[in-house]
Amino acid sequence: MKQLYGVIGDPIEHSMSPIMHNDAFKQLNLNAYYHPFHVNRTDIGSAVKGMKALGIRGFNVTIPHKSTIMPYLDGIDPLANSIGAVNTVVLEGGDFIGYNTDGLGFLKGLLEECPFSIDKKKVMILGAGGAARAIFYTLASNGINSVDIVNRTVQKGEQIIEECPYSTNSKALTLAEGSLKINDYDIIIQTTSIGMYPYINEAPISLEYLSKHVFVSDIIYNPWNTRLLKEALAKSCSGQNGLAMFVNQGALAFEKWTGVLPDTNRMKKIVKRQLGG
Ligand code: NAP
Repeated sequence: MKQLYGVIGDPIEHSMSPIMHNDAFKQLNLNAYYHPFHVNRTDIGSAVKGMKALGIRGFNVTIPHKSTIMPYLDGIDPLANSIGAVNTVVLEGGDFIGYNTDGLGFLKGLLEECPFSIDKKKVMILGAGGAARAIFYTLASNGINSVDIVNRTVQKGEQIIEECPYSTNSKALTLAEGSLKINDYDIIIQTTSIGMYPYINEAPISLEYLSKHVFVSDIIYNPWNTRLLKEALAKSCSGQNGLAMFVNQGALAFEKWTGVLPDTNRMKKIVKRQLGG
């Protein structure tokens, strides 16, 4: 019988996950199917019960359910627990266990595309929302601890640093401070929603003082290059968009469900083609 997987979110119709996972199932000759499920905020508890009753083997969780799903699961992995968000659920011995592959997906994508070794490098994370927290804690848990957080609401950056269960050497800065000190960093990770629709003509920080030694990673991939990434590339910096993170978080979820790591280069091509480029 076909094994069923999926993704829950609201909205969900533009998700790139179904096309990416269904192609990987086909490539690997796995008798499985991945379906997008639209779930309203108020229905999350009954959705989880229903998924279990229907024998769904695993699913992804996206906006706005990544945190609110947690009390309805049977167990949470320690990293996901400290991040406070789950993006992957796996059926393990009849229990739904929650994981977070966003941070590790980001790190794998960074290692794939950054032209220099990230060892002992100074990192700035722009933003202090859910994605920033996942990336900060994953970097810290992997020994990358010279990471400062620059955010419009500086208290949110301070909170992420204070609550981090791993040792760090970090401070929280305002956008103005971050912009002035931008050349103190080797890697800038842009995690705010600025650059996405409707903010496609905006950048969260001025790059006036940026010089070309900095690698700029913007986790947005639609639009393909945000204004910030375009400005950085125009200053001869190297950089990447959010495709590598998206594909790797999905590939890690796929591996947890099936025990097989799919071909991430093929996944990148499929998502890129679907986005029109
Ligand atoms: P979130 O929790 O809502 O955080 C949003 C962040 O953007 C906060 O730091 C917020 O600052 C900042 N922000 C919002 N409006 C701003 C403005 N006008 N000026 C300056 N800063 C502003 O969102 P999230 O879940 O972390 O997601 C953030 C982005 O990452 C989204 O674009 C999402 O699509 C993308 N993402 C990509 C992947 C991937 O796989 N590539 C995975 C996850 C997320 P305040 O704290 O001051 O409000």
